[in-house]
Amino acid sequence: MQKTIIQFDDIDKYGPQSYHGSFSVETHELGREEIENIGEVTVDVEASQGDLPGEYVVEGIVAYIADLRCSRCVEPFPFANRSHFHLRYRPRAESSAAEIQDVEISQEELDMEFYDERSIPLRQMAIEQIQLSIPMKPLCDDGCLGLCPRCGANLAREQCACDTSITDDRWNALRGIREELARKREQ
Ligand SMILES: [Zn+2]
Ligand SMILES: [Zn+2]
Repeated sequence: MQKTIIQFDDIDKYGPQSYHGSFSVETHELGREEIENIGEVTVDVEASQGDLPGEYVVEGIVAYIADLRCSRCVEPFPFANRSHFHLRYRPRAESSAAEIQDVEISQEELDMEFYDERSIPLRQMAIEQIQLSIPMKPLCDDGCLGLCPRCGANLAREQCACDTSITDDRWNALRGIREELARKREQ
């Protein structure tokens, strides 16, 4: 049986709870136009009380396979993702005053969410985590050549007849730097 809504009351009553869900998600729900298709999304979380009163901690994994559009050549490519996430929920009403005093936001507090309702749908949590896991500029390959600036040909698949000798020189220099970086990373 799937438990797909995190209930803070259950955690108070029975201790830490695990939840599992698999959902189908529509691309328009994700609000990222780079996503062409997305398969079934699975989410597994453990939820427990946090250190502060009213605070809950959620530790989880979201996994999916999608087709993203490359930001350089505009071709779709498969993207498999499995992201681990850690969230802390605090009640909204009590937090607002405290937040104003909290001028310094530590790295830890970036994973903080504020709740009004004492139940959190797993599906909504999964959608937020998918949005966070999609790269800002998806690339089919780090070395994707993109489109020819003159004729629009996809240079990863074909060579066009445009005269790009000047940009070729620049590109070669850039490629030299890239290859060097890749070598360093491998060492
Ligand atoms: Zn590409
Ligand atoms: Zn061209």
